[in-house]
Amino acid sequence: MKATSNVHEPAAPAILLHRISQLVTMAGGEEARRGPAMREIGLIRNGAVLISGGQIVAAGAQSEILRHPWVRRHRRELIELDCRGKLVLPGFVDSHTHPAFTAPRLIDFEKRAAGASYAEIAAAGGGIRASLTGVRSSSEAKLADHILGALHQAQAQGTTTVEAKSGYGLDAASELKSLRAIRSAAQQWPGTVVATFLGAHVPPPEFREKPDAYVDLLCREMLPRISRGGLARYVDVFCEQGAFTLAQTLRILAEAAKHKLRTRVHVGQLSNTPLETILAARPVSLDHLDELRREDIRALAASDAIATLLPGANYFLATKKYPPARKLIDIGAAVALATDYNPGTAPTISMPMILSLATTQMKMTVEEALVAATINGACALELGARKGSVTAGKDADLAFFELDDYRELPYWFGANHCVATMMAGRFADLG
Ligand SMILES: [Zn+2]
Repeated sequence: MKATSNVHEPAAPAILLHRISQLVTMAGGEEARRGPAMREIGLIRNGAVLISGGQIVAAGAQSEILRHPWVRRHRRELIELDCRGKLVLPGFVDSHTHPAFTAPRLIDFEKRAAGASYAEIAAAGGGIRASLTGVRSSSEAKLADHILGALHQAQAQGTTTVEAKSGYGLDAASELKSLRAIRSAAQQWPGTVVATFLGAHVPPPEFREKPDAYVDLLCREMLPRISRGGLARYVDVFCEQGAFTLAQTLRILAEAAKHKLRTRVHVGQLSNTPLETILAARPVSLDHLDELRREDIRALAASDAIATLLPGANYFLATKKYPPARKLIDIGAAVALATDYNPGTAPTISMPMILSLATTQMKMTVEEALVAATINGACALELGARKGSVTAGKDADLAFFELDDYRELPYWFGANHCVATMMAGRFADLG
């Protein structure tokens, strides 16, 4: 299997994938799933998939697909691939990552293991400031290389669509450089990347005493330039003590809307912020949500916003409490799962690991976790019409696992059973 790019190449070939032991289609519409619908994974045993021009033509039971009129018409040009009993899923949609950094934060890691506090870690030269120095001094090409490396690691674990945030530059030049690096990495990767501007990650050190002046800079200089350059689809804000206040968050969301940029918010990770006014700004997704009041859970369920849970951060920071996934699902919120891949609090880009944490620590069913990691993740990026299920008309983004049963995915935690990924109808080199 060779790495391929969609750019300047002939149309992807017509392919018949057959002898799939279990095919998880996620058939059932392109809207985000809620409540009992989060358990509907469209499972087909002995499945087959027809692909042409990078898109799914049909997916279903092998006996039916082999009789499909399209197969008879295209028999000659059709490449038949025997999946030899593998498990096939829609490629994972990782709807929350921070890949624009240059180095791991090992000081944080060692200090935390030794029991140090966040303040002690910062004083020892760790924390977000360490990532800031690396990104500000890095060339765009070097940063793009790091991001591309992360995309390849994601793909090796079955991920085919990735949301990628800036947020470790925190000045206009470094944030724009980060977004250009994300774009450059995306052009070299056959999967799909959605860029998010997270200039509002934390106020940078030079604005520590005057965070409102940083918000001014972000709104007046950075947002217009990012919008004009088409460098991001989303604007994100970290609404939290020590990051940005609710008032600052609402100002940035309103400013983003003026520039026709869609929004998402990190909220409720360490402390509660009432969600009512944030939801009124119509963000596409609210992420983390560890600290929620009962009325926040109700308001979320009644809204269109996706509740994106990031249990990798809880695991790595060893918090005792995980986000209330069960309450959110049972009341009807649309829940997505993502890695939160970042050097400080969640250095994993493995969606199977996140599935394992979701089932063991947050008591999601395997089916709910799979929905959250595919179709609901796609909806968190407003890509539900193209991604997240193996159904006719969608992009042929697939993940292949050397497993017999989908429930084994979160069961065998810490091991990678992904043996291939397909993006837009082409197999990608697992590198
Ligand atoms: Zn994050």
